[in-house]
Amino acid sequence: MHSLVFIKQVPDAAQVRVDYNTGTLIREGVPAIINPYDTHAIEAAVQMKDKFGGIVSVLSMGPPMAEDALRKALSMGADKAYLLCDKVFAGSDTWATSYALWAGAQKIVQENGPVDIFWAGKQAIDGDTAQTGPGLATRLDIPLVTCAIKIVELNLEKSYIVVQRLIEGGFETLQVSIPCMITVEKELNTLRFSPLPDLIRAARSKIHLLNSSNVDIDPTKCGLKYSPTKVKRVFVPSKRERGEILDVNENNIASVLFEKLEPVLRKMNKL
Ligand code: FAD
Repeated sequence: MHSLVFIKQVPDAAQVRVDYNTGTLIREGVPAIINPYDTHAIEAAVQMKDKFGGIVSVLSMGPPMAEDALRKALSMGADKAYLLCDKVFAGSDTWATSYALWAGAQKIVQENGPVDIFWAGKQAIDGDTAQTGPGLATRLDIPLVTCAIKIVELNLEKSYIVVQRLIEGGFETLQVSIPCMITVEKELNTLRFSPLPDLIRAARSKIHLLNSSNVDIDPTKCGLKYSPTKVKRVFVPSKRERGEILDVNENNIASVLFEKLEPVLRKMNKL
């Protein structure tokens, strides 16, 4: 079987801080990582390969440094890594990003054969829109399962997969035909530890470069100029006032709270 995993390189959110004077992110010294949800998509695809055979391709659109993310994916068990990198993609919104990734996927299909399952993370921890996976499924015209937490069954002969997905207040189990697109939650699996030989193989592997000259892509459908989303304003929420820490015990908690809240509630005509 052939899996294709879309992975995005993102700044490690745990280490990003905001410069309140300029309203910009402080990126200096912040390491770039694979979007955490995408690592679970890679793991899921590699587990499928372990069980059913075949290959796992990974595709990322981004600057040359996204090669590091692709090498990490190779060390996790992916077989072929593709980097879609070209000035024409700069400033693409989610609509244009899903178009460029779709075009890159067509090239990978030409080289490695049809894809059974397309995988993506539920969302990227920087952009956070969760639109790219659904956008790709629409362009590929295949069923979509979002927020997957368990692969219940894959039947390649009958071309279907059964997936459990997270919904508000519980989960639901869906059966969809393949090829399909699955976006994943972190609960889907536990990441494997990459042994040294896999790290060496990943370091030595070729990263296949894709761009507007070797992919059949319409440059008037990507990049900032052709992105329908226009960013009107970017701002940093104002800093919150520090709260007050009250010295209370179980005997006086109600009276201390009432004393604090009474003037506020009276002002609001709630007393
Ligand atoms: P989500 O939709 O939340 O991601 C879901 C999943 O889709 C990911 O887990 C991953 O599996 C897959 N995925 C998402 N992005 C990629 C990718 N690039 N490669 C492979 N898989 C992916 N971003 C820039 O980096 N540079 C820019 O210059 C830039 N300009 C922008 C201009 C505008 C007007 C707008 C609106 C956005 C711009 N962005 C830019 C952000 C960029 O559009 C988004 O990062 C991108 O579309 C993905 O959206 P997201 O981050 O919300 O990912």
